[in-house]
Amino acid sequence: MIISFLLIVATAALAATFLVITSLSLSGMMSFADVSATWLPFWIGDMAGIIILSPLFFSCIQLAYPHKCFTILKHIEGQSNQPTAQFKYKILLSSCLIIVTMLLTKFTQSMDSSFAIFFLVLPHMWIACTETAFPNILSLALSSIFIVFLIDLLALMDFVMVYQYTINVVAANAMFAMAIPALIAHNHQLVTRVSTDSLTQAASREHLIEQGKFELQQAIQHNRDFSILVYDIDYFKNINDTYGHDVGDAALKMLSEIAKALLRPTDLLGRLGGDEFVVLLPNTDKATACNIANRLLEHVNGTEFVSGEAFSASIGITQMREGDDFNSIFKRADNALYAAKKAGRNCIRLN
Ligand code: GH3
Ligand code: MG
Repeated sequence: MIISFLLIVATAALAATFLVITSLSLSGMMSFADVSATWLPFWIGDMAGIIILSPLFFSCIQLAYPHKCFTILKHIEGQSNQPTAQFKYKILLSSCLIIVTMLLTKFTQSMDSSFAIFFLVLPHMWIACTETAFPNILSLALSSIFIVFLIDLLALMDFVMVYQYTINVVAANAMFAMAIPALIAHNHQLVTRVSTDSLTQAASREHLIEQGKFELQQAIQHNRDFSILVYDIDYFKNINDTYGHDVGDAALKMLSEIAKALLRPTDLLGRLGGDEFVVLLPNTDKATACNIANRLLEHVNGTEFVSGEAFSASIGITQMREGDDFNSIFKRADNALYAAKKAGRNCIRLN
């Protein structure tokens, strides 16, 4: 999108330059001899104008018509328009840099020193990476207007091309960097989505396995206990068949909340699939894991998913042993769960 936008800007500015210069030449307001010296400053200047003003223009339209959809704004929709508390310092830094470098050019009258204005890319990259789209667009407009104002005030027209190029380069860089906060926000959303089971808000299977491997490694490294508990609701299919899938879903959510409320912040509840859940218990030996399982079963038995109808569940527990990897420890807990089912359900088995 940004590359397309920059290409459109460059093409539009070139077309505008061509039309203006042709009109001026044909109407006798500019001699043909001046065309070769004029077209480049015209083009770069128009480009700077469009690159700065069109995002600002679209942002203003969006403020006026918040319900209309503009393709260019799709990527920044949903972002807050509010700048951070440090925004004013970032603007102050950009302004000081503009003043210092332009005064330097004023006093030295040297083309070499005028290039110092390119340092403006630094505060604008800082703004682009840390602020949302609107404060960014606003800061680019403020810097450009300030530069234009100082060119006039300090009589720096001899260096105008350097300033025009700077505005283009700073703005194009900022446009690319502007995507970073949006990408970070999207990444954050994706990580949450992938690591959380959408129905029960327990950890997803993938996240649970990843975290299980990590906790096991930590337990081995620091010579700590580690246990896992696997539980599965008894006759869950009957709940679905008798009361419908919605009641089944609500029951799964309810059970997940009950389990979460019983656990420590360091424990992790995950949904392995269907009505089967796993709890990772770092720093926990099998005796403590059994206490937790008893408490869990008590709460499960004491919960009614519809009036007068309580749950039961079967629980398998195991503690880490020497030579375990996540597969072996999980398999052992799952075998314990299977033994609990075979023993008649609504009970706990240790393996
Ligand atoms: P068991 O005592 O042997 O565990 O019997 P069960 O009926 O609970 O059997 P099992 O655990 O194999 O069945 C799980 C059922 O859970 C199968 C499926 O209909 C149901 N199920 C799986 N995922 C969901 C879900 O997301 N929502 C609902 N409502 N039901 C689900
Ligand atoms: Mg079941």
